[in-house]
Amino acid sequence: MDPTRRIVSDGAVAIEGSRIVAVGKTEEIESFFQADKIIDAAGKLVMPGLVDTHVHNSQQLGRGLCDGCDLPVHLFERLYGYEQQLSEEDAYWAAINCQLEMIRAGTTCFVDPGNYFPDQMARAIGESGMRGVIARIAFDVHSTPMGELSSHLRRETADEALGHAEAAVRRLDGLHDGRVRTWFGLRVLAVCSDDLIRRAKARADDLGVGLALHASESRDEVVAARVKFGMHDLERMDVLGALGPNLLVIHMGWASPREIALCVRHDIKVSCSPSAGYRLGMGSMEFGRFPEMLELGVSVSLGSDSAMSSNFVDVVRQMNLAAGGAKSQRLDPSVLPPETAIEMATLHGARCALWSDEIGSLEPGKRADIAIFDTRKPEWQPVLNPIANLVFAARGGADTVVCNGEVLMENGLVLTIDEERALLESQTRGRRIARESGLGAKVMPKWPVE
Ligand SMILES: [Zn+2]
Repeated sequence: MDPTRRIVSDGAVAIEGSRIVAVGKTEEIESFFQADKIIDAAGKLVMPGLVDTHVHNSQQLGRGLCDGCDLPVHLFERLYGYEQQLSEEDAYWAAINCQLEMIRAGTTCFVDPGNYFPDQMARAIGESGMRGVIARIAFDVHSTPMGELSSHLRRETADEALGHAEAAVRRLDGLHDGRVRTWFGLRVLAVCSDDLIRRAKARADDLGVGLALHASESRDEVVAARVKFGMHDLERMDVLGALGPNLLVIHMGWASPREIALCVRHDIKVSCSPSAGYRLGMGSMEFGRFPEMLELGVSVSLGSDSAMSSNFVDVVRQMNLAAGGAKSQRLDPSVLPPETAIEMATLHGARCALWSDEIGSLEPGKRADIAIFDTRKPEWQPVLNPIANLVFAARGGADTVVCNGEVLMENGLVLTIDEERALLESQTRGRRIARESGLGAKVMPKWPVE
């Protein structure tokens, strides 16, 4: 994954400290470098670490709690109900488990659009060894055409929300050798006032960070925006002067032609989340215009969303769904080829995380963020085209993962997280939250449990 997209057979990557110093044939690399540690990747595919541009770490303990409900119920009843039960320690263990799932998937960098526990997110990144963008979420409107925020849930004014968000940027941005970056994050535009949107963008610009938000996500949301504001989400942001290249808009399956033109004009970054579209029945891939956005030069990356929306966090599976969904929508198997899917998960992902100067490709000078996939498995063989096999044939699941020059997982063993402890915490805390929120009873199996 370099400007010429070379596929190096019998290749090697030399790493010094946190950076890649050379990429080439093993023979050449071995003649120039003496290694303290060698990772034998014979029979394996060495890729840039994958970038997941839409991950809600804090929702990891709520897997399944939103199953089978429409978006308004999903947001106003299930998600906000879950969040109300979440303690600081729950949020930390949610992030650890989420990052464990991502490392196992071959992801080295993620963008989390925000929650109420940015310090716990940063703490988890410090321990897992991953790279991530985090945010302290902001919204200030509690009654919308989609639903009413119940009165026992957290309510903030624009001043309060922005105060917390900016403090998080100042406190956390750049932590852990620069692996933590902190942005501003707005929930969905329907629950943000004009004042909040305008000021969040201005503060992000002043502090030189990004702004992430969900936009044009579902038909319900688009209709709600038209009813209340007379226009679509990005058109509203345009009127507010809040568009720019540091904006990451998530979903966009219902983007209007005008919104797509705004993405081109303002170099706005887009994160497409196929699995959330399918799981929630939002029609993201059926009605989305992602191949067109890519043709027009927009950076379109892939996001997994969360355990409550997708319900998994794995970019390899997103590549498969994005490529398949676009082909099925157009009745054209040549749309969104596997090469494009891999660019979405690497180069475009890095651009969308505003991190492409450091990650997204295997090139000298870039950070050593690497995912290695073992091709010596039945679903991989024979390997004629490893690019196509990764997108169409593989089940996902990396074998070895390196981030910032540190080995996070080697030959299937995660080195930075006590996996047994993490899974136990997830099970215990997840069950407690399901019980205390009353949401667990809504998603039990319909079949008799003995
Ligand atoms: Zn989201």
